[in-house]
Amino acid sequence: MLGLLAVVILGVASEASADLHVRGGVALFVGGMAGLIGMYLALVQLLLISRIPQIERIFGQDGLLRWHRRLGPWPITLLGAHAVITTIAFAQASRTGVLHQFAVFLRSYPDMLAASVGLALMIMAGIASVRALRKRMRRETWWVIHLYMYLALALSFAHVLALGPTFVGHPVTQAVWAFVWASTAGVVLCYRVGLPIARSLRHRLQVAEVHREAPGVVSIVCTGRNLDRLRISGGQFFAWRFLTRDLWWQAHPYSVSALPRPPYIRLTVRQLGDHSAAVARLRPGTRIAIEGPYGAVTPGARLHDKVVLVAGGIGITSLRSVLEDLPKSSRPIVIMRAPTTEQLVLRDETAQLVRRLNGTLHELVGPRSSTGGPRRFLHRLVPDLSERDVYVCGPQGFVEDVVAATKTLGVDHRAVHYEIYSW
Ligand SMILES: Cc1cc2nc3c(=O)[nH]c(=O)nc-3n(C[C@H](O)[C@H](O)[C@H](O)COP(=O)(O)OP(=O)(O)OC[C@H]3O[C@@H](n4cnc5c(N)ncnc54)[C@H](O)[C@@H]3O)c2cc1C
Repeated sequence: MLGLLAVVILGVASEASADLHVRGGVALFVGGMAGLIGMYLALVQLLLISRIPQIERIFGQDGLLRWHRRLGPWPITLLGAHAVITTIAFAQASRTGVLHQFAVFLRSYPDMLAASVGLALMIMAGIASVRALRKRMRRETWWVIHLYMYLALALSFAHVLALGPTFVGHPVTQAVWAFVWASTAGVVLCYRVGLPIARSLRHRLQVAEVHREAPGVVSIVCTGRNLDRLRISGGQFFAWRFLTRDLWWQAHPYSVSALPRPPYIRLTVRQLGDHSAAVARLRPGTRIAIEGPYGAVTPGARLHDKVVLVAGGIGITSLRSVLEDLPKSSRPIVIMRAPTTEQLVLRDETAQLVRRLNGTLHELVGPRSSTGGPRRFLHRLVPDLSERDVYVCGPQGFVEDVVAATKTLGVDHRAVHYEIYSW
């Protein structure tokens, strides 16, 4: 907010110093402000997905992604508006047509061609992120298109310094703006590229064993070096990149389904699509690169001592490691939900951990209608719900229903922690 205020003050001070009464003056001011605020929000967008561990631990990747998605339309709309309104302003000032003015920009103004290509790429990536379209696309296709955002911002950068009234003839403002952008690029490169590479080289993970847990579910036990130095809490996940010929180019998020027992660490995967099915066929010795650990759905996030953990199907993976990381005083009530008993993944080890913590395990098996819905089962199985933190993991619909039910049952929203297993 402070940054936004600084940008607005800077913009108003410099843009309004130009004469608003001349032809096109007002449009030039409005277009300039839209551009400045749009670029600032684009920078915030980059920071939201830069995976800075300290921020990630507080808000969780889920929370930061939600903000990133909510904010997403604003910079693109503002930068689009900036391009249109500024072109109109120049056309008014030179008494020419808007299209003619646009052609003049492309031909004669420094860095304008690059900025226009940048804006086109940004709009394309923005459209690909519209929920209805995104849902029809493979995640990998969307991801490649989304990468063009970085190129788009790089292409747009130079024209701001070369042409923006806030910057032309103001070397200090130019230097500050360039520094802020360079630092943001540095943070993104450091945390999204450098740190994962360093961590992967340090721990040298590889597949030790793949074994079946339930129909369509496998556990992958991995070995690595220095795993005791991997600061990981129950409930966290990594983006796993299995370095085979077919899979090396995609990283998918899977929770650790047990806390590391050096030299071992484990993930448990339900086969849903291409990647998760291929994971089941991994051979021992396959090398693995990791990004993470990420996630804020950890025991450390508790408001209360006592907890209730609600797992929808494969959602038990992260809650099982939460369970392993909880103190005895948490007296956990664990609710496992699945259509059939066979689909209660990690059932025995979960029961064992619950017993060790003097907790209670409820298995809700059968069609959805048989449980009466989350409001009913929470009310029935957890009499002291408002005195507990609620942890929920699983498929989107399930998690959303449980979270909605906690609201109607009077649970403080700060005591509800959830991870949705989709993007
Ligand atoms: C934080 C988190 C932790 C997860 N932990 C586990 C786990 O412990 N065990 C497990 O079996 N599954 C887990 N998942 C879900 C798992 O990531 C997806 O099932 C997997 O990536 C599917 O990929 P696919 O190519 O096999 O299937 P696809 O057919 O590509 O997708 C199937 C479903 O998975 C979702 N998905 C696909 N790719 C991704 C991605 N890169 N990021 C997020 N969601 C994706 C899609 O929304 C889709 O609904 C987790 C997801 C998240 C976000």
